[in-house]
Amino acid sequence: MPIDLRSDTVTKPTAAMRAAMAAAPVGDDVFGEDPSVNALEERMAALFGKEAGLFCASGTMANQIAINAHTGPGDEVICDEGAHIYRYEGGGTMATSGCSVKLLHGDRGRFTADQVAEAVNDPGNPHFPVSRLVVVENTSNRGGGSIWDLQQVRGIRAACDAHGLKLHLDGARIYNAMAVDGNDALAWGAPFHSASICLSKGLGAPVGSVLVGSNAFIMQARRVRKRLGGGMRQAGILAAAGSFALDHHISRLQDDHARAKRLESALSGLPAVEQVLPVETNIVVVVLRSGRTAKAMLHKLRDQAVLASEFGPNMVRMVTHLDIDDAATEQAIAAWRSIA
Ligand SMILES: *Cc1c(COP(=O)(O)O)cnc(C)c1O
Repeated sequence: MPIDLRSDTVTKPTAAMRAAMAAAPVGDDVFGEDPSVNALEERMAALFGKEAGLFCASGTMANQIAINAHTGPGDEVICDEGAHIYRYEGGGTMATSGCSVKLLHGDRGRFTADQVAEAVNDPGNPHFPVSRLVVVENTSNRGGGSIWDLQQVRGIRAACDAHGLKLHLDGARIYNAMAVDGNDALAWGAPFHSASICLSKGLGAPVGSVLVGSNAFIMQARRVRKRLGGGMRQAGILAAAGSFALDHHISRLQDDHARAKRLESALSGLPAVEQVLPVETNIVVVVLRSGRTAKAMLHKLRDQAVLASEFGPNMVRMVTHLDIDDAATEQAIAAWRSIA
């Protein structure tokens, strides 16, 4: 079995998670009758201090539903230039919701309230699209798992309020952020009108994200999910995996972070390595020295049964997760040492 550091999405459900899935009570969720889905939605909403939740097939779907529910065609969404909603969701923001995007140049994915205020278009000028929504991604994937400061996000919410904008959290890895900064879900939910929380990354479920927000927002989100073909029937079998992950896989995120730090310190001094982006959570981004390409490096790593992903022409990304233990971490380091 190769050591798969390509993403924290590659985790496989554990035997205990599979048992919980098999035992889950189910019903028709489009009729609102799946007890396992309802339990997960209510729990996630309560955790983040919101009225309601919606179980979605993926983080992409949860984000795209949120964008669609918050905006109208021709509106503008403000986000960082590296944002998942812009770069990695198949153009959904533009195609599904008909929105333009104004990109901010943040610090490893993190922008300021002033940058938001400057980016808002004058609503009295008909030349401009109407600025409608700001999206914050915590942790920031392109930022190498960088964590936002909660106070900074509160400032962004104030800027949104001043201009009548909505604020959405792409919380694919919000539990990784909380494992480090010590704030709880209630604190992280508060500044946002809506949030998507991924269950199938570090939390290790096979499928699913939950979108949370007000009752009115989730009612509209439910309609958009149906429109996109995302209304699932006996989905409780999947939601049960998410509930199991909330019960059992949060406290262990620290281990992933420790292993990512171990990779950072072991790889930093290697001759082929220009720099490792400062590791804050479970993502390790290695910048190679000139003359070295990510493609060639990935090929050599693969020969030693280590899988990583290309993050740019000279950047390699590795993500630690549930299925990477200390031995696998050391094996990956040994492979890097022999190549780089
Ligand atoms: C992975 C990810 C998502 C959603 O991904 P899915 O594969 O669709 O679940 C959203 N935002 C960020 C920042 C991500 O890393």
